[in-house]
Amino acid sequence: MSIIDRVSSRPLLLIVLPVAIALLCMISTSFSMLNAISVSVDKQDRARTEQVVHSALGSLVDSVAGLVVDNARWDAAVENTRDPINLNWIETTWGIYTGDANYDVAFVLDGKGARLAGYRGGQAITMEASAYLGPSLGSLLAALPPDGTDFAVASTLAVTADGLAAIAAAPIFPASVSNDREIAPRKVLVFARLLTEPVLAQTGRHYVVRNLQASPLAPDEPIPAGAMAAMDRWGQPVAALWWEDARPGDAARQTYLVSVVVIVVALLLVMAPISLAHFFIMRRLASNERAAIAAARRDSLSNLPNRLHLSEVLALAFEQQRTDFALVHIDLDGFKGVNDIYDHETGDRLIRAFSGGLQSLAGENALAARLGGDEFAVLIAGAEAQARAEACAQTILDCLREPFDLDGRIAHVGASIGIAQPDGNPCDAVEMMRRANVALDEAKENGKNQWRRFDAAQDIRRQEDMAIASELRLHIEAGAIDVVYQPIVDVRSRAMIGVEALARWPDQSLRKVTPERFVSLAERHGMVDALGDLIFEKACRDIAPLEGLHLSVNLSPLQLNDPSLSARLQRIGAAHHLTLDRLQIEVTEAVMIRHPTRARRVLGDLHRLGIRIALDDFGAGYASLGYLRDFSFDAIKLDRSLTQAIVSDPTSQMFLHGTILIANGLAATVIAEGVETEEQLALIRLAGCQVMQGYHLGRPQPLADLLRRYKTGSGEPGKRRAG
Ligand code: C2E
Ligand code: CA
Ligand code: CA
Repeated sequence: MSIIDRVSSRPLLLIVLPVAIALLCMISTSFSMLNAISVSVDKQDRARTEQVVHSALGSLVDSVAGLVVDNARWDAAVENTRDPINLNWIETTWGIYTGDANYDVAFVLDGKGARLAGYRGGQAITMEASAYLGPSLGSLLAALPPDGTDFAVASTLAVTADGLAAIAAAPIFPASVSNDREIAPRKVLVFARLLTEPVLAQTGRHYVVRNLQASPLAPDEPIPAGAMAAMDRWGQPVAALWWEDARPGDAARQTYLVSVVVIVVALLLVMAPISLAHFFIMRRLASNERAAIAAARRDSLSNLPNRLHLSEVLALAFEQQRTDFALVHIDLDGFKGVNDIYDHETGDRLIRAFSGGLQSLAGENALAARLGGDEFAVLIAGAEAQARAEACAQTILDCLREPFDLDGRIAHVGASIGIAQPDGNPCDAVEMMRRANVALDEAKENGKNQWRRFDAAQDIRRQEDMAIASELRLHIEAGAIDVVYQPIVDVRSRAMIGVEALARWPDQSLRKVTPERFVSLAERHGMVDALGDLIFEKACRDIAPLEGLHLSVNLSPLQLNDPSLSARLQRIGAAHHLTLDRLQIEVTEAVMIRHPTRARRVLGDLHRLGIRIALDDFGAGYASLGYLRDFSFDAIKLDRSLTQAIVSDPTSQMFLHGTILIANGLAATVIAEGVETEEQLALIRLAGCQVMQGYHLGRPQPLADLLRRYKTGSGEPGKRRAG
């Protein structure tokens, strides 16, 4: 199950599960409660029924006893049972009524219990009462008072030859007290009512006991389970009694069960469609979500994974603490040109063609991605990742040497490529991508069409550069860049004839930054014009009042790109009353190399304004004397490496001589830079150079020091300046 599936089915579970659990708990709790209640109700009902059955049997026995009393305590009965007994009377009075609703068997016995007359079902029987009634007869007779003394009745439940019966016996006794009490030997009347199935059923109906049944017990026979014992009057069990318990608890349980089933079914009927609908909605949402997530991770134009996907894979690699991978970051050079020359459709076609190539080049264990625009990446994992990444980068460059044929349109693009690999230092996906990007920038700055590996030292320098650049911006805005001045001296008179304005990083800054570094940062970050203006402004303000001194300022090649340069120089010069014939600008031969035509035009314009143009650092780089011919410089500044080599190196001496000769021929002044010793000075002077600059003649210094020197006269140009 994917993460998305898990997330999506959660709401369903969140709703349905608790409801189902609560329902189940409710049902099971109420069931067990009801069970307990119903068991106890059933028990109570059973106990009550047992009592009812008990009294029902008692009243059956009592009714037989009552009948015996009515018939035995009767003068006529005494009369007709006196010896010789009147059998006819006995038969018509008691015998023919046996089997009717009140009793089934009648015996008239003598004092010892022997049968004088016996009837059953309206017929005379010959069976002895003791045989018919069993051993209980003896016990009954024993319970009667002695002969003639008193009247009493004894009754009991007993098992007869016809089954369970209620029997009662009483002496036949005169009803009137005045009658002769001497009735000896006495006679005994016995009635029995058989507790047959219909009788028991009738009794059951009367007492609301369902299906009441009895089964006689043999002496010592145990009472079967679930039955109740019927006792005789001496407490001996004579029969097992059964009936159908009403079980009211059961009934209640059943009713409740039905209600619960109805509720559950109703709930299911309500919840099932809701749950189903919910399920299908969630499933659709999940699949939409999956599609959206997949789409969000793929670039639609190239069909390659995009930046998001790549960074997730990278993040995972770092999470798993893997180090066996390398990231190749590719930026196409010249892609914008394809868009411009042809159209965006052709550009898109190129992206697709390149993506296809990149994908097949990446191969196994690698992931090619499009980061956007003309930027791509390949994440290479596994053994030898770095070497494979470098090989991959080189193959890309090699492949790009061939132009793309996009439906007949030929497009040339190159690439700058940066490679980064985990190096044991703390890193994450974002940092990794930044490093590859840093390496890529490095490749770009070094002339494109190449790959570069990320270099931590360079990176530190770059980061410093970023910090310096932003600080520089603040300093320029605040006008806080300082300017110092280095004297330019006429050697013969030792008089200061001019100064070179040199920019300085503010003293109050926490870091030390050389002018080379911040000037080059100003160039790279588009601040060079603002910096140039600031320095020129300060230098004009400082030097304009020092009459007779010319001011030399350095100009970055980029400043020549600005069409408003000459206008600004004029405006600033005018604002500080510095006539332009006192101004010299120093440019390096880089200006001539990069844009010879433009350089010639702009320098020509400045020249026509009266500004002197000096070629700076001559002899340090390519030392092409050709430039001297190409453009008529007013001055040539010999680089200090040349000046300093002159003492030891004869070739330098010859070069110096030659240069001075040519310069003289071109009517340009030669200024030797970096003169540090008297010896150097002497040699250079000997070679014919009259103007010099260097620590030996004066260090770059703040305006205050310069003013002091100017005032003490060592810089008074008018007096000591030669010709
Ligand atoms: P640069 O134009 O060749 O300036 C001369 C450099 O040589 C200065 O370094 C100066 O301090 C140094 N120097 C002078 N005499 C001697 C010496 O006897 N011995 C030695 N070893 N060095 C000497 P700085 O001031 O560090 O400037 C370095 C470079 O920075 C300059 O070279 C120039 O290219 C650039 N730069 C300085 N200020 C500016 C500016 O305002 N604008 C522009 N565009 N570039 C500037
Ligand atoms: Ca210079
Ligand atoms: Ca120089």
